[in-house]
Amino acid sequence: MVSSAIALAFLPLLLTLIIRYRFYMVLLYRAVLVRFWRDCVSGLSREERAYQYVLTHATPGDPDSILDAFDTWCSKVEFISNIGPKKGKILDRLLMEQRPLVVLELGAHCGYSSVRIARALPLGGRLYTVEMDQGNAGITEKILRLAGFDDDTVELIVNPSDEVIPKLRAEFGLERLDFVFMDHWKKCYAPDLQLLEDSGLLGKGSVIVADNVLFPGAPKFLRHVRRSGLYEWKVHRATLEYSRGIRDGMAELIYQGIV
Ligand code: MG
Repeated sequence: MVSSAIALAFLPLLLTLIIRYRFYMVLLYRAVLVRFWRDCVSGLSREERAYQYVLTHATPGDPDSILDAFDTWCSKVEFISNIGPKKGKILDRLLMEQRPLVVLELGAHCGYSSVRIARALPLGGRLYTVEMDQGNAGITEKILRLAGFDDDTVELIVNPSDEVIPKLRAEFGLERLDFVFMDHWKKCYAPDLQLLEDSGLLGKGSVIVADNVLFPGAPKFLRHVRRSGLYEWKVHRATLEYSRGIRDGMAELIYQGIV
């Protein structure tokens, strides 16, 4: 009797917590539980399952249809942390404004944003995309080929970002990065930004866009940006990809050089 009374007393608190954190619970269910279950049943990785869906639902040579197929799968089947259609449109707009000739992407994952960037490149533009996971890099390569992009447009580099950035000048012949898109491990954002600064590849007006700076969040990165005085910057507020109720944002930095 007493235990029932205690349970009833906690019911309003429980309901409040469920209502308040319902979007995080949905994310936990879709990103962790569904993934675990399907990993066991299918014997394939989540990324391989996404690739199979895209392969059977997209039109080869049509980047738009590949992005649409990814978005459908990630919205209705399983969660993958692509940039997604809403934040993707912000990225599209920044690319159209900058018309960058040399773009660096850190964290290709399955190739979703690589396709998004490659389709926005001006004539003669080139994307260097970095992915440390061999399996995901293999899927990125297949997605890029399916979209119709060759080695002249996109170079896929399979290595950790902190090993690649210091070699971009000597091994890849780069002299300047016009645009950098960061969407890899959030703990790598701050050290990789400092590596980019040290590389001498950032020039006045180089743009750096970093996804998920509010969720999961990159506080050390934002603190460095704020304190360094090297950037004009702002955060484009949005919601987490393929989620309605979790607030997120993309940071846009414009390098001003040493001041
Ligand atoms: Mg992201």
